[in-house]
Amino acid sequence: MVTAVKSKVVAAVMNPLCDARQRIRVDEHLATGDTVVQILHSDYRWRKIRNKHVQDEPFCQMCGIRRKLEAHHIIPWHLDALLRFDRDNLITLCRECHFRFGHFLNWKDMNPEIRELCKQAKILNPKIVEVGI
Ligand SMILES: [Zn+2]
Repeated sequence: MVTAVKSKVVAAVMNPLCDARQRIRVDEHLATGDTVVQILHSDYRWRKIRNKHVQDEPFCQMCGIRRKLEAHHIIPWHLDALLRFDRDNLITLCRECHFRFGHFLNWKDMNPEIRELCKQAKILNPKIVEVGI
C-alpha cells in the first residue's frame, strides 16, 4: 500500500568509512504518523567512478558486449563500505551477466570468483580479450 510521505533532509555529513557525503532524511508517513530516518548515500562520487571504470573497461568481461554496461562490485559494499569506491573491487559486466554471473540470479547473492570466471570465458572465446564483441 502506498501512503503519503512528507520528507525532510535534516543534515548532511561525511561518512569517514567510505569518505562519501551522506544526507540524513526523515520521512513522516502521514497516514500512520510513523517517522523513518533514512541515510542517503551520495551518488555523485559513485557515478564518477563508475563512468571512469566503464570507460577504461568498455565491454562486458564475461561475454564481451558493449551495451548496457554496469560496474559490478565483486564484494558488495554493504559488507565493507571502503570497497564501494575501490576500483580493484569493480569489474565491467553487461546487465545480463551482472545478474546471472555476478549474483547467480539473486541480487542478494554474490560471486567472489567472478574475475576468475571471466578469465575462463576469455580463454574459451579469445575475441573477448581483443576487442570485445
Ligand atoms: Zn555480458
